Amino acid sequence: MATSVMLEGGERIDGAVVFTKEGPLQIRAKFTVDASGDADLVAMAGFPSFIGQNGKVQNPTMIFRLMGVDVDRFVERYGKDTIMPNEISELIQEKNAGNEYQLPRAKIWLFPTTRPNELLCNCTRIVGKDGRELNVLFAKDFTEAEIEGRKQMREYARFFRDNLVGCETSVVNDTGVQVGVRQTRQAKGVAMLTNTNVTQGTKFKDGIARSPWPIELHAGAKPKVEWLLNDFYEVPYGCFVPETGEGLLVAGRCLSAEHEAVASARVTAQCFSYGHAIGHAANLCVRNGMAARTLSGADLREVLNRDGARLA
Ligand SMILES: Cc1cc2nc3c(=O)[nH]c(=O)nc-3n(C[C@H](O)[C@H](O)[C@H](O)COP(=O)(O)OP(=O)(O)OC[C@H]3O[C@@H](n4cnc5c(N)ncnc54)[C@H](O)[C@@H]3O)c2cc1C
Repeated sequence: MATSVMLEGGERIDGAVVFTKEGPLQIRAKFTVDASGDADLVAMAGFPSFIGQNGKVQNPTMIFRLMGVDVDRFVERYGKDTIMPNEISELIQEKNAGNEYQLPRAKIWLFPTTRPNELLCNCTRIVGKDGRELNVLFAKDFTEAEIEGRKQMREYARFFRDNLVGCETSVVNDTGVQVGVRQTRQAKGVAMLTNTNVTQGTKFKDGIARSPWPIELHAGAKPKVEWLLNDFYEVPYGCFVPETGEGLLVAGRCLSAEHEAVASARVTAQCFSYGHAIGHAANLCVRNGMAARTLSGADLREVLNRDGARLA
């Protein structure tokens, strides 16, 4: 757990201080990558960052797994689409209205996993008691999300067991080790992926990753999904280079991207691509004694292509 950064001359990151049971440990590094999801190092260094749309972020979700499910009967009854059919959303609304259950999200996603008799459940919707989307950067919000997520998990598991075909003898296997976080703080980069870049499928000469994923914005009563059909957009290198400061790059969901754009660009396979690219970028900067902002994104793209990234 990084707890602070070492700064040279107020603007060059020289490594990080991490927590250990023996006390603080200083790790000196020629180059540092902030893949904390929360742009923690960017903020610790005082480099520019921002939080969602004027502080508003997407809600966290407590993922859990259900075991003891008859998956064949489940799929036969509800189909292969992991977004559950309208009849389930309507049943949830009906049961809520009758005060039988308290299930805050009616559009739910249940995925059979690669393991036998198991469903992965993406269904909770965690908002604060005051109606805000919780932001786990704040310790109080984090605690509320952890407790509320587990309460909701129990309620959904009860609903599934009592109402869904194939789930009659199901039990909760586990939850995530902590509540799942979609969005918190992001780095302000020398470039910013815009909402329009995503919806219009913008390509960049210095694009270092490709994404066809829709805007999948979890906020409010129902997730907003805006598809990008038969197309993709690219994410430029500058989205990972902090606007000011040296010796630091970011990778993962804390990239520089607008609120709706990050609701697409944050997903897993894309984060793999960012890690691939930014690892190379840091290596090139160290070997050539360059600053991250002087490295050409187009050159980096070529390096990735040599690895088979297929960015044409
Ligand atoms: C509920 C939910 C459902 C999702 N569903 C899908 C899906 O179906 N498909 C898909 O592709 N994507 C999905 N995503 C998105 C995807 O899982 C994440 O956006 C992606 O994993 C982000 O990766 P990351 O490495 O940037 O951040 P994270 O996965 O958040 O990893 C950050 C890591 O940094 C560590 N860390 C944080 N702070 C510090 C610190 N100060 N010092 C040291 N370490 C630190 C954390 O412990 C963590 O291990 C979902 C996300 C959520 C929350």
